[in-house]
Amino acid sequence: MTTLKAVRGTRDLLPPETALWNRIESTARRVFARYNFGEIRTPIFEDTGLFARSVGEETDIVAKEMYTWEDRARAQSEKSQSLTLRPENTAGVVRAYIEHKLGESGQLQKLYYIGPQFRRERPQKGRYRQFWQIGAEVIGPPSAGSESALRDAEVLEMLATLLDELGIIGWTLELNSVGSSADRERYNRTLRAALIPVAPRMCVDCQRRAVTNPLRVLDCKVPEDQPIIDALPRITDSLDEDSKKHFAQVTAALDAAGVSYKLNHRLVRGLDYYTRTTFEFTHSGLGAQNALLGGGRYDGLSEALGGPRAPGIGFAMGLDRLVLTLQNQLDERSTQPKVDAFIAPLGENLNAAALVLARELRRVGLAVELGDGSFRLKKSFEAADKTARRIVILGEDELQSGILTVKDFASGVQTKVPRAELAAFLRN
Ligand code: AMP
Repeated sequence: MTTLKAVRGTRDLLPPETALWNRIESTARRVFARYNFGEIRTPIFEDTGLFARSVGEETDIVAKEMYTWEDRARAQSEKSQSLTLRPENTAGVVRAYIEHKLGESGQLQKLYYIGPQFRRERPQKGRYRQFWQIGAEVIGPPSAGSESALRDAEVLEMLATLLDELGIIGWTLELNSVGSSADRERYNRTLRAALIPVAPRMCVDCQRRAVTNPLRVLDCKVPEDQPIIDALPRITDSLDEDSKKHFAQVTAALDAAGVSYKLNHRLVRGLDYYTRTTFEFTHSGLGAQNALLGGGRYDGLSEALGGPRAPGIGFAMGLDRLVLTLQNQLDERSTQPKVDAFIAPLGENLNAAALVLARELRRVGLAVELGDGSFRLKKSFEAADKTARRIVILGEDELQSGILTVKDFASGVQTKVPRAELAAFLRN
């Protein structure tokens, strides 16, 4: 019989790696709370139209990468509906913002999410078909200050803090402004015209993009195309006064806060909804897929989805890529956390007593692994050394006297500890 495997582009996350995932997630939650963000959880699938209208029909994501199916009607009163596994989460958050009329409070909404996203991309290191994102959005009516450059700077400063607290060393913030939607339209026309004479000399993707979505040409990584792209008009020259001023305020606030960044006029990002500030945090250790996270402002998205005017800014970071980066940095030992103690009963008749002792210790918050009385002492020691920092021997004598023998693997020291003091001893 053929054995079944996880589908291409998906994978199982196993311990000890999952401990790192949990650590990243809890650090993110802690940092978000300090900046007054609350968690939102939206459905994993949505109406296909949501992504077509927000991410954009012409983007690679919508045109090629979505997992879409026709959900059949189950009753005459129902209609069949085209559904899609979410390829990203901003669209879902903005849909929820509109649906629950969150703007009516007059307050800024600061929302974060952690969850899987799905794109049918070509799998490679750091790129999967099911991947996880941690993201956040700041969205609200203009009267709540949602358009302010201060919000852009606050989000970027928070990200710098989060990456530092995660222990990511050597990230780079790349920053650009793609202007208002009018600026973008103007630039699109300029770019389209400039591409006509040069596109035939470019890669096939660029030839297609030159017609369907000229901004995407700027993302091309093909080496031969680079001199051609460098000579194209720059979006920076198409920005109107308001957009220029907004961007200058963002960079001034970052300068004041001491957050360093690199201007990258080619950073236009893959989703159609971005306006004004766009950014990416990259890491050289990641190879070809070097973006840790990306984001930007999307002042017109709510209206494009039929909602009220609600400018916003947000980002999504790839949890898979944070894990890869940290794994490259950390040494093996620290990614394999060990439990506080391994309890080794000397004989099967002591198994129940060992369970009682483990229960005592676990109840006061210690992490404990339980051996088995059928193990020889040597086997207990080997198992304990792999999983725990210490071994606690539980024989008849120890049970009667209430004095346990504890051996610490790092120091090699063996100590007799009264049972009543064991938890405190192990906690040190
Ligand atoms: P995007 O939603 O395309 O702006 O992506 C935001 C971040 O999500 C990227 O910077 C990556 O870290 C991560 N990401 C996007 N697509 C994938 C993928 N297929 N596999 C793993 N991570 C991804």
